[in-house]
Amino acid sequence: MPGSFLLVACPECDNEQTLFSKAASTVGCAVCGQRLAAPTGGKAELFGEVIETVEHR
Ligand SMILES: [Zn+2]
Repeated sequence: MPGSFLLVACPECDNEQTLFSKAASTVGCAVCGQRLAAPTGGKAELFGEVIETVEHR
C-alpha cells in the first residue's frame, strides 16, 4: 500500500495544497505556514479539511 495524495484546505487561509497521506515530516501551508499535517508513524494526522483524495498511480 503506497499511500495516496490528499488535497487539503488550509484552515487559516483556504490555500489548497497537495500532500502525501503518509507524510514523514510536518507539512506546513506554503502560503501562511499553518501546520497541515504531522507524522504519526503511519497515516499523517491532518489539520485541514480534505477536499480530494488522489490515489497514487
Ligand atoms: Zn495557509
